[in-house]
Amino acid sequence: MATIGIDIGGTKIRGVRVEDGAVVERTSGHVGDSDLIVTATSAAGELWTDEVDAVGVGLAGLVRWPEGTFAWGPHLRGEELPVREALEGELGVSVVVDNDANVAAFGELRVGVAVGFDNFLMVTLGTGLGGGIVTGGAIYRGESFAGELGHMVYDSGGMLCDCGKRGCWETVASGPALIRLAREVIMLNPEGSLAARIGTDSISGDDVTAAADAGDEVARGLVAQVGSEFGRGLGSLIAIFDPALIVVGGGLGSVGEALLGPARRVAAEGLHGGNHRLLPPILVTGLGPDAGAIGAALMAAEGAE
Ligand SMILES: [Zn+2]
Repeated sequence: MATIGIDIGGTKIRGVRVEDGAVVERTSGHVGDSDLIVTATSAAGELWTDEVDAVGVGLAGLVRWPEGTFAWGPHLRGEELPVREALEGELGVSVVVDNDANVAAFGELRVGVAVGFDNFLMVTLGTGLGGGIVTGGAIYRGESFAGELGHMVYDSGGMLCDCGKRGCWETVASGPALIRLAREVIMLNPEGSLAARIGTDSISGDDVTAAADAGDEVARGLVAQVGSEFGRGLGSLIAIFDPALIVVGGGLGSVGEALLGPARRVAAEGLHGGNHRLLPPILVTGLGPDAGAIGAALMAAEGAE
């Protein structure tokens, strides 16, 4: 069995070809201005061989399940795009299309850190804050769109979110939230250590996390601040879902302890009934940045069987 998995996030795209359970080829790039269907088709084309049996695609946004129509997303262009139907026509194999955090959760469930866990949450921290809910060993989708954890209202009247609402959790816990904090520090202190290290224009989240990794105290403080906001939201999710495990993926999630340490501390402080329960483990993804692509490929394999 050979399948291709494509993960189209808010800014980055990653793809893998999986043969008999092993990743044999990878591709990655940035999401451009092209139509989403064209983008997915060309990524699949890069990984294509005649042996491919099925293709799985994860998209950042609301995906109608099982039709595989991309309804809408705050970070990607296009609305009501029949991605599954178009790709099946183009490629001539069966295709599954799901939300990007759902396919990441599926990857962790099958071959990542969540193997053996029937109830867990996948949270992807990147351009936005995505969520995948696994309950009873399967993805919980509601009517189609469940798991938009980043758009729960966290701060009534807070900052404007990319989705058009105010105060969503992802406005304070995401890559762009970290960049905004860094910009504020640099504007206030243009001669400071952070400005000296990463410059004053076109700051990326990777710049800030690299500065934190290199031991810059200001950058570490900013990562910890985002981690604390992340942990506060996780506390609420634990009260709702009581998961056995929380898996953190996405570009910012890969930062690890500088972010997850403060997140665990704040989540533990806010734990509902905290004297009667333990904080579930909050772990970084077992599959790294390819979690979504691998999950999409595995979901396609199971769908195609
Ligand atoms: Zn929002």
